Amino acid sequence: MSSQSFHPPVRTLMGPGPSDVNPRILSAMARPTVGHLDPVFVDLMSEMKDLLRYAFQTSYELTMPVSAPGSAGMETCFVNLVEPGDKVIVCQNGVFGGRMKENVERCGGTAVMVQDDWGRAVDPQKVEEALKANPDAKVVAFVHAETSTGAMSDAKTLVKLAHDHGCLTIVDAVTSLGGSPLKVEEWGIDAIYSGSQKCLSCTPGLSPVSFSPAAIDVIKNRKTKVQSWFMDLNLVMGYWGGEGKRSYHHTAPINALYGLHEALVLLENEGIENSWTRHMTNHQALRAGLEAMGLSFVVPEGERLPQLNSVSIPEGVDDAKVRGQLLKDYNLEIGAGLGALAGKVWRIGLMGYGANKTNVLFCLGALDGVLSGMGARIASGVAVAAAQKVYAG
Ligand SMILES: *Cc1c(COP(=O)(O)O)cnc(C)c1O
Repeated sequence: MSSQSFHPPVRTLMGPGPSDVNPRILSAMARPTVGHLDPVFVDLMSEMKDLLRYAFQTSYELTMPVSAPGSAGMETCFVNLVEPGDKVIVCQNGVFGGRMKENVERCGGTAVMVQDDWGRAVDPQKVEEALKANPDAKVVAFVHAETSTGAMSDAKTLVKLAHDHGCLTIVDAVTSLGGSPLKVEEWGIDAIYSGSQKCLSCTPGLSPVSFSPAAIDVIKNRKTKVQSWFMDLNLVMGYWGGEGKRSYHHTAPINALYGLHEALVLLENEGIENSWTRHMTNHQALRAGLEAMGLSFVVPEGERLPQLNSVSIPEGVDDAKVRGQLLKDYNLEIGAGLGALAGKVWRIGLMGYGANKTNVLFCLGALDGVLSGMGARIASGVAVAAAQKVYAG
């Protein structure tokens, strides 16, 4: 055996995540490892919680990163809030709502499904009907930014509806955090989870979460033990909770947390509103280019995510061949369709560090080149200029 070090190519990541990682984050992660109870690391943890509160726009005490990817943040919310026999209203308008159902059932709860078409926002009227028909429901769960389709739901309205009917809320903000307006405390969200690798532009593997005082009350007064030892917040709080003394729960992924800290510093320095605006501006330029080319958006205007652009694949075009050529010739990754939309759409991400003019123009030029080269029926040579016009204002 004489194995070699792994040297990945430098790609431009414009899919559904992971997104391009800011080099400042990668260099932060290469700094010396310290012990996970070292006083300097404990200080970093405190600062991290403050930075996460800023990102989530909340003052909730229990705000921290779960030491695992977004899916584990999802599971942390469900296993702590849902007990056997509980009824949960789950909104599904894409892949991730389906995973919420799976979580509820594995906790021994009953999921009442509210279905909407893939590519559409969650319909608040249907949620209200479900709440009226299920007065014993305990939680309403929905995905704020459905990465599988590119649809954004009205979190503020859905949370208010849930509260009016005495329900807590679990919100998936994996793709919205940092990319679209999200005000956890003002909107009254009870349990929220996100991911490090989407609009925070960090490496994958960490899941910021935040819980309201009402959610903590429910967790502290459970009738049964949380089924997962690792995710039981009653135990995790001993490590991440209160200031001062911290006890060992698990070894925190130290260097990964350096990276998330740097990502959050970058977000704070930019200003979260500026980050939201930047995602929107670049989305508008990308949209102008894609539409000039003749591609159409899957999600109706007004329900679109700026950070995840789903467009229909033109008729007769080989999905895998196009994505393969983009990767091979341009080192550019765009996303394929998922579930019901597999083979029908491309998902072009503009997340975090990757939401910039260079990426937008590069992607449009590359897509134009590949599609034109294959003889696809698109308008060639106009996309980049259409995007430039948006930037010129
Ligand atoms: C990416 C994503 C997840 C899962 O996050 P992982 O880090 O892949 O586990 C969950 N929900 C949404 C909406 C996502 O986009």
